[in-house]
Amino acid sequence: TVTIFWHRRDLRFDDNAGLYRAQKSVESNDSDTDNAVLPIFIFDREILDKLPEKADARVMFIRDNVQKLADHYREMGSDLRAFYGHPLDIWKALLDEYDVKAIYVNRDYEPYAIARDKAVADLIEARGGSFHHFKDQIVFESDEVQKKAGGPYTVFTPFFRTWKKNLAERMSTLPNGEPVSYYLKPYPNGEYTDRLLQTKDHQPVPTLDEMGFERADDFIPPDHVTTGLIKNYDKTRNYPNMEGTTRLSVHLRHGTISIREKVRKALALNDTFVKELVFRDFYSNILQSFPHVVDAPFRPEYADIPWRNDEAEFKLWCAGKTGVPIVDAGMRQLNESGWMHNRVRMIVASYLTKHLLIDWRWGEGYFADKLLDYELASNNGGWQWAAGCGTDAQPYFRIFNYDSQQKKFDAKYEYVKEWVPEYGTPDYPAEPLIEHKVGRERALDVYKTALTAA
Ligand code: FAD
Repeated sequence: TVTIFWHRRDLRFDDNAGLYRAQKSVESNDSDTDNAVLPIFIFDREILDKLPEKADARVMFIRDNVQKLADHYREMGSDLRAFYGHPLDIWKALLDEYDVKAIYVNRDYEPYAIARDKAVADLIEARGGSFHHFKDQIVFESDEVQKKAGGPYTVFTPFFRTWKKNLAERMSTLPNGEPVSYYLKPYPNGEYTDRLLQTKDHQPVPTLDEMGFERADDFIPPDHVTTGLIKNYDKTRNYPNMEGTTRLSVHLRHGTISIREKVRKALALNDTFVKELVFRDFYSNILQSFPHVVDAPFRPEYADIPWRNDEAEFKLWCAGKTGVPIVDAGMRQLNESGWMHNRVRMIVASYLTKHLLIDWRWGEGYFADKLLDYELASNNGGWQWAAGCGTDAQPYFRIFNYDSQQKKFDAKYEYVKEWVPEYGTPDYPAEPLIEHKVGRERALDVYKTALTAA
């Protein structure tokens, strides 16, 4: 028999809760000499077929990391099988091919993933096998960080307090990263990962390097660099012209690094940084407890804002041509590099939802297409925060003044000049799409009327 470990958002070998448990389960079952763990990965067509471009940088990131993982397994005397297709079809074939005793995974909290995992669990259970799932992607799940009186937190600060208290009490019970590799066995890997992913004309898709991603973002910053960044994080994190944040988001998104490992490290170095990592847990918890946020405001009274939704203005925002330098720089950074500084994500989101009165879901969707670190929970949380309809106490009448943001965080226009080369020349719009005061008044008026009516 075989136990299958299915890699998804956990593309690493070490400190991987589900993989660890899968190997432990096999180890404890000495009587079955044939017993071993088969690691697999599925390039999921349910997701890939919806992407506008097959050569999407995120798919390439995954492909490169699956390849690395496969190499690592080979060094351990094992092999990873990678597939391309619809997960249920692949699972049916796998259950026919092998005598599968159990499937092990790490939990994923997005609605699509929950439904998919349920279908796979049903499939193996119908054949007498078992499906095991573990927490790995975040530190605490929604039933672990609860108010004293019960129920999930909806405000970050008390959530953070309880989260930290939990951590102090339970840190030692988290998987310790011990590598257990004795029970991995090689399996014939008929299809090579590279050949699984092909463009329409059957050419292999390019690697990230070939696509010209300078920063490639497929490398994990060396430890000393991350340590230095985390140490100074509270002083540098708000300045988009500096290398002042860690750029770990894409790795946390795909699990190429372990959140537990980062938390352990951050605890000793910088509390502000810990707090940001906890924001990631917080938004995941919100998604788990309030799945309606996927396409509706967290606060229902915000459901009927009469968005202007001007398509021409939306296009200018997307292209970084609004005439507001810091907004344009942010959007161009996103378009050209697949990443945007957090401070600027807040500014562009505020500008779209408040000044232009465009539905936050339009902006959320655009970010989802473009961000290498795109993650449903954090992206949704960030957008709802900007639009004022989310969890945190950000009243709708607090509207970012983009001029003061510029002065405070990019006073010398270094960030702007890096991304908007024509800034300061006649080619750059002389006027913003909408002037701050006018936009502010209009937003206040529209929000207030809608909320009074709600
Ligand atoms: P650092 O500043 O070095 O932070 C370290 C890690 O902490 C990040 O990698 C991330 O995992 C986590 N983190 C930091 N800030 C936040 C936050 N506000 N919310 C949740 N997690 C956080 N983050 C995503 O990972 N995916 C998204 O799709 C995403 N969309 C966003 C949309 C909007 C409108 C806003 C305002 C924020 C969004 N964020 C998102 C959060 C944040 O901007 C990014 O996590 C951060 O910019 C990534 O860069 P970094 O790794 O250098 O971050």
